[in-house]
Amino acid sequence: MSDDEPPVKRETLAAQALGRPDPTMRGLTPPIYPSATYQRAPDGSYPGGHSYTRDQNPTWDPAEELLCRLEGGAAALLFASGMAAATTLMEALPDAAHVVAPASMYWTFRLWLVELNEKARLRVDFVDAGDLDAMQAVVRNGTALVWVETPANPMGEVTDIRAAAAIAHAAGAKLAVDSTLATPVNTRPIEHGADFVMHSATKQLNGHADVVAGALITADAEGGIWAQVRHERAYRGAILGPFEAWLLLRGMRTLYLRVAKAAENAQQVAEVLAADPRVSDVYYAGLASHPGHDIAQRQMELGFGPIVSFRVGGGAEDARAVAARLRVFTDATSLGGVESLVEQRAAVEGADTAVPENLLRLSIGIENVADLLADLDQALG
Ligand code: PLP
Repeated sequence: MSDDEPPVKRETLAAQALGRPDPTMRGLTPPIYPSATYQRAPDGSYPGGHSYTRDQNPTWDPAEELLCRLEGGAAALLFASGMAAATTLMEALPDAAHVVAPASMYWTFRLWLVELNEKARLRVDFVDAGDLDAMQAVVRNGTALVWVETPANPMGEVTDIRAAAAIAHAAGAKLAVDSTLATPVNTRPIEHGADFVMHSATKQLNGHADVVAGALITADAEGGIWAQVRHERAYRGAILGPFEAWLLLRGMRTLYLRVAKAAENAQQVAEVLAADPRVSDVYYAGLASHPGHDIAQRQMELGFGPIVSFRVGGGAEDARAVAARLRVFTDATSLGGVESLVEQRAAVEGADTAVPENLLRLSIGIENVADLLADLDQALG
């Protein structure tokens, strides 16, 4: 931020995408730089400050700066996907580094950690999501990183970020938080002591299901891990295309409106489902009955995210039948877009998942909530 910029709130920064017209043409939306390479000066320097897009592209700059400022971090990097962001952070750790992660979390990343553990690339201990005693029991001097996801996908477990940071830091470890379901609108993990924040920007950050992207934000841009993260991103080419970075910045302009509306809808859906005898076990941190509700209230604001999961009577077939009867919800994977989705989640996660087979995961969008409630009512039969 330069000295002549007004000290505005985060909503304003997001709505105005930093509020700096393009200096060349005074356009209110920034240009897209598709160039893979940049001209050198006769002395070999790069007058434009860029050399090759696998290292850096100017289209990334405003999206990275906006994310960094929304999260209250020191630096941010965009990636080709949420998985690219998460795996790049892990690849920045030394061989055989000790990592502690939740047993219940975004399934592909958990499976990837299982694979790295089997190859002895990392030594990973999995603990029940949100269970701080279990975390404390396995974190030891020499632990490199503690990973948490809060709220977790798809079962909504909540982890106390401040307490997890204290456990990690007492052992000299770093704390990384997958904050995809919260976004910086609901939670800013760095303010609670986290060292790294990770997002699948494919979800609410972009919000329109037309970009696959990821992001990492660090509390300390000088730390050795961050330098290695930058290096890994450039060497592996885990980078975001310029057009996708531009779309992501455009999506983030409406982030605060979308996140608040989706969470308001999700809260209503969760409350109605919780009172419906045709379903059981509604997993939503906004419900007072949720075991993580008090912590969520402390560390989340403006709502509890877009994901509501619940169980129907019977098994997988019964859950699939309900999903098939929904007509306003679309049966599709992913989450965090403007339109509502439903998924019989266990089928996606495969044989070793702990997700009950009769669980339906809803990603609640920004539609009129009456349409969503009516659709659920008719589909439950
Ligand atoms: N983290 C969470 C919580 C997710 O839900 C997802 C994807 O669904 C990811 C990470 C991975 O993100 P991506 O699909 O952008 O690689």
